[in-house]
Amino acid sequence: MKLTKEQWRQRQLTAAAYHEAGHAVARCVLLGRSTAVTINPDGSGLSHGTGASFDLYREPDVVWAHLVMTDAGFAAEYKKTRVLTGGGREDWAWIDDILSRDPYLPEAVVTSACRWARRYGDGLDKSIRYAVEQAARRFVRAHWATIVRVADALVEHHALTAEQVQDALEDREPRLLRGTT
Ligand SMILES: [Zn+2]
Repeated sequence: MKLTKEQWRQRQLTAAAYHEAGHAVARCVLLGRSTAVTINPDGSGLSHGTGASFDLYREPDVVWAHLVMTDAGFAAEYKKTRVLTGGGREDWAWIDDILSRDPYLPEAVVTSACRWARRYGDGLDKSIRYAVEQAARRFVRAHWATIVRVADALVEHHALTAEQVQDALEDREPRLLRGTT
């Protein structure tokens, strides 16, 4: 079935909204930081705070939170659309770049990745990469209702301030709508 232009546009928008909502909710929950989110009609979007700075070798939990937050965009998009789009490609490149620098990761993550690596004969790198994906998927499942709320608000308004994201997180719809221009 061929999609009409409008259906196609709507689909792009939905994918982008869920992708950015995944990042935004993960950022709030895992890093305690709210963030403004924007989506564009072409399906691109932005929710990353730019220049996230953390110490790769001193803050294993923060490094891990950033990795999971970065993969949560694709995980949310995929859970909604079940379509493997290009969405997430830049995120994956960033994750691979961080992992290639051999950061300190939480002990529990490394322990279970070592176990997988032994069991499946994969390299440790691949197992850690897999652990990131699993954690992102778990996160998205656990926070799905919230992600849907943020994504729906995004589809409707295309841009949310950090305060509005916080409202959506706490399910305060009226304030969210009132604050939207
Ligand atoms: Zn992304």
